Amino acid sequence: MVNAMPEIVVLRLGHRIERDKRVTTHVGLVARAFGAKGIILSGEKDVNVIDSLNKVVLTWGGDFFVKYEEKWRKVIKEFKTKGWLIVHLTMYGININHIEREIKRKFYSENKSLLVIVGAEKVPGEVYSMSDYNIAIGNQPHSEVAALAVFLDRLFNGKELEATFPNAKVVVIPQEKGKKVIKKE
Ligand code: SAM
Repeated sequence: MVNAMPEIVVLRLGHRIERDKRVTTHVGLVARAFGAKGIILSGEKDVNVIDSLNKVVLTWGGDFFVKYEEKWRKVIKEFKTKGWLIVHLTMYGININHIEREIKRKFYSENKSLLVIVGAEKVPGEVYSMSDYNIAIGNQPHSEVAALAVFLDRLFNGKELEATFPNAKVVVIPQEKGKKVIKKE
């Protein structure tokens, strides 16, 4: 039997409608564009963020899913029960440079799918203990968008940047100068 390719799902914790609408949308855009299967949003339920990510999927293709779940502990437990590894991105964790090989071994050789958690406001202490890995994209504070992008890029060795998305209504044709976009019916 051939094992299916392992997957990545992103769990975005602690969304606040007023403060985080753009950043959470960007977390979702990066998750999709950099190879995750979907995003689960937690914190305050924000239908605008969900709608705008779903619109991007409709226009730009692929089968990326967007879900809201109030009970993030339940999400973590469910993914653990399915055998996924829980990876929490935090500046307090182990530097990615020291753990990248192990994570790649788990993903590519042991076929382990990953639930990747990023925070917004202060992340509850429990997340650190529930996670299999607390990983720092450097040990300086920056952004959940940057942390997720760097993590996925390291995991996929840059190959995700050449991905194509099925059923896209709009496709960019790369140009040295100017813009070329094909629109499909
Ligand atoms: N004190 C937070 C922390 O634990 O990393 C920074 C809060 S930051 C505004 C929001 C989120 O960005 C964090 O929950 C974390 O997921 C991510 N983040 C920020 N800096 C990071 C870093 N250096 N490494 C990994 N993740 C980071």
